[in-house]
Amino acid sequence: MRGQRCALLFLLILGVNLLSLMPVAAERETSFELSVKLTLDLPVMLNFLEPVTLFYQPEKDLVRKPHLPFRTWRAVEDRTISQQSSWQVQMTNGRIILLSAKGDTISSELPLLFRGKEGGFTLNGEVYPGTLLLWPEGDNLLFFNEVNLEDYVCGVLGREAYASWPLEALKANAVAIRSYTLYSLGRHTAYDFCADEHCQVYRGLPEAEVFRTAVAATAGEVLTWQGAPINAVYHSSSGGRTRNNEEVWAGPPLPYLRAVDDFDQNGKNYQWPQTYRFSLEEVGRIIGVPGEKGLVATPLYNQAGERVGFCFAGDGRTVQLKNEELRRLLLLPSANFRVLIGPEERELTQEVTLPPATTLLFIGNGAGHGVGLSQWGAAALAAQGYTYRQILRHYYGSAVRFEYYLPPSGRTSASLK
Ligand SMILES: [Zn+2]
Repeated sequence: MRGQRCALLFLLILGVNLLSLMPVAAERETSFELSVKLTLDLPVMLNFLEPVTLFYQPEKDLVRKPHLPFRTWRAVEDRTISQQSSWQVQMTNGRIILLSAKGDTISSELPLLFRGKEGGFTLNGEVYPGTLLLWPEGDNLLFFNEVNLEDYVCGVLGREAYASWPLEALKANAVAIRSYTLYSLGRHTAYDFCADEHCQVYRGLPEAEVFRTAVAATAGEVLTWQGAPINAVYHSSSGGRTRNNEEVWAGPPLPYLRAVDDFDQNGKNYQWPQTYRFSLEEVGRIIGVPGEKGLVATPLYNQAGERVGFCFAGDGRTVQLKNEELRRLLLLPSANFRVLIGPEERELTQEVTLPPATTLLFIGNGAGHGVGLSQWGAAALAAQGYTYRQILRHYYGSAVRFEYYLPPSGRTSASLK
């Protein structure tokens, strides 16, 4: 009887899992292209990895908008560019100038698009997939990469993770990056993402094959909540326990961003590489509360008894700061820190009046904001044999589902097709 019940329970669990893993789309033809604004200073060295066709955008007055339908671009007659030459890209008097090592010149005051069959080019030696757009803006030249979502995820993964991490950890990171990417669509208006930390750092494709393997093994897979990709934030190392989202940023508590125990103790970033010492006056200046006459510091706690921030009061001013806000103001590695007061290094755990010239010592663990997936924790769990889905379940909780994404409406195919 007990065996039967176990079998039934097992089937039920299996059934639920199978259901939650059913693709949202009947077909997996779901890829679409993102427009990423690259971060480059002129001049830039450009090489094509295959022959490309050159197109220009005839509508001079169009506002900058890289997601122009491909039909609005015009091919330059007989202008196929071989991959033999390398080009120096610069701007002169509002014109894009490309100079090849062989002495050829391409010059245009209109936006240019370079497109091959497979896609691929290098900028200053970094390999990019997809299509290249050059868009003049005054005396500046903007570079855009129209890149397939999966290649973009691979590029970000290569910047975020170590090739030496176990494959399951890389797969967990890939699903988190893909989910976060889809959640973040719409941050910029004229393009999808910048290539810096504001969105996610992207510098083209990584060299190590293992990143491609991790992305391919999870192709199209995302975490969802209430039918939409989740804000799958991730960080390097929490320092022992991750954080609740509302204690770090503004906004309501999210069921998939709850504090959980982390397994990052053997990770590279578990210990801060150094301690940080400030005078009370320095801290006061940085947080905007005059500290010359002393400050009253009050730690703030959540219901679980974890310190979530501080209140500082002095000279008629009061400021309340979350750990994360203090971390950003003081440029600390993480929001997981303790504050020790004065030469006796007594920990600041309750309200205290700090006299002028008090020294504050910050010591801590972890790196990053501490919310969502811990990358070093994921690496440790994968090394213990956990699968990427188990890892993601641990960090994002049981409220999330694993699904295959649908492209956003209006973006059902690559914008350039
Ligand atoms: Zn951005």
